[in-house]
Amino acid sequence: MRYQPVIGLEIHCELLTDSKVFCGCQNEFGGSENTRVCPRCSGMPGTLPVLNQGAVRLAAKAGFATDCTVNNYSAFDRKNYFYPDLPKAYQITQFEYPICSNGHITVSDGTDIRINRIHIEEDAGKLVHDDYEGISLADYNRCGVPLIEIVTEPDFRSVEQVQDFVEKIALRLKYAGVCDAKMEQGSLRVDVNISLMPYGSNEFGTRAELKNLNSVKSIERAINYEIQRQSDILDKGGKVIQETRRYNENHDDTKALRSKEEAHDYRYFPEPDIPPVYITDAELAEIKAEIPELPNSRYKRYTKDYNLTPDEAELIISSKEFSDFYDAAIKSYNNYKQISNMMLVEVNHLLNDSGLTISDVRFTPDDIAELVKLSEESVISKKSAKDILAIMFKDGGKPEEIAKTHGFIMDNDASGLEEIIDKVLSENADSVERYKAGNQKLFGFLMGQVLKEAGKSANPKIVKDILTKKIS
Ligand code: ADP
Ligand code: ZN
Ligand code: MG
Repeated sequence: MRYQPVIGLEIHCELLTDSKVFCGCQNEFGGSENTRVCPRCSGMPGTLPVLNQGAVRLAAKAGFATDCTVNNYSAFDRKNYFYPDLPKAYQITQFEYPICSNGHITVSDGTDIRINRIHIEEDAGKLVHDDYEGISLADYNRCGVPLIEIVTEPDFRSVEQVQDFVEKIALRLKYAGVCDAKMEQGSLRVDVNISLMPYGSNEFGTRAELKNLNSVKSIERAINYEIQRQSDILDKGGKVIQETRRYNENHDDTKALRSKEEAHDYRYFPEPDIPPVYITDAELAEIKAEIPELPNSRYKRYTKDYNLTPDEAELIISSKEFSDFYDAAIKSYNNYKQISNMMLVEVNHLLNDSGLTISDVRFTPDDIAELVKLSEESVISKKSAKDILAIMFKDGGKPEEIAKTHGFIMDNDASGLEEIIDKVLSENADSVERYKAGNQKLFGFLMGQVLKEAGKSANPKIVKDILTKKIS
């Protein structure tokens, strides 16, 4: 039988603060083990946490970026459990009073995915398992790295919706400067809760939680594997057990990790060492004002106001730096379509070939605007625009100056061209005869000869007009 999947996500994001959430250790990725630890984040008795205000601001921004209510009051709790990567034997998190509640993101098929809450917590360390020696080593560099956990309602009904949501939320968090959202480095981690129910039913089944998903691709594969596994159990009249399962990329399967704990297993209680967080409406307004225009709003502007295609808009917003560059360029010359073309085709081509990004280039948005304008106003040909761009990319310089010094300015005066065309036609009388006898291809040849003679300043459109007149 086929079943309706029901899916909810828990997404952990590392915040882009300079220091950790309760101590002054650096918040960075990589480096040697246990080099960014202090008595506080390694859980020494008697040390006291001090809340990083930057983490609170970024968590609030995450809330604004996902249409949540950002609460004036939130508070921390202790979640008690023992694991070797958690030296205090409890995690400081927000249980009763999260910083954000009730947001949502609309995915591409129009489905609204509700966000239940976003809360602040600390990350745990990492265990490095050495199978050869048969030992595990603890690296506490990640202990106390500030996290937010974003919890959605079980509103997803397909793999595609999940993938789309993860991509959209990751992009918004990047724009807002909350998180760099590098799934492969673990700065954005997605846990998938999934259950099945018969189509048409509205009673949810028992869910399993899938952990260890470090790419959008493995989310897809893990969900598909899990749909199959749970379907097989239900088909045989069995019951799905509520548990946490680990996805193994190499085997492409999921394995039971532990049976699911209930909240009461953690003995949550209010964290006595951190006072509650109060944020005034004025402070919230100030934090909100720091968020740049988000990708969803830019997408709307590009497709609705500028008439770009969905693909073009999607490509431009896929990087904030690229989108910022585009927005700056269209401010100085409002030919939305041609600037989009120049950037998506020609500029991207140069970037891809060189491995650079738009933040590395030597030209400015104004330069691109000017280049497109010169071409649109027939001061230079389209072909020359490409050549000039390549020079700007390699050596820098202003488009108009390059056009002048390299002889790219088109001669829009027909009189000089007439002479050249007459000369070419008389030198190629034979080809002209054959063209007139029906060999259409020779028009291109004659065009080529004229342009060669006239140089890159010749306006191909004018050449074509005169040539057509003279030989037809
Ligand atoms: P708990 O308190 O046990 O962690 P929550 O209600 O907070 O449970 O849900 C945790 C996650 O599981 C959320 O992302 C939620 O959307 C998802 N979820 C809850 N029930 C189901 C279900 N029946 N099927 C799939 N996902 C579910
Ligand atoms: Zn520390
Ligand atoms: Mg929960």
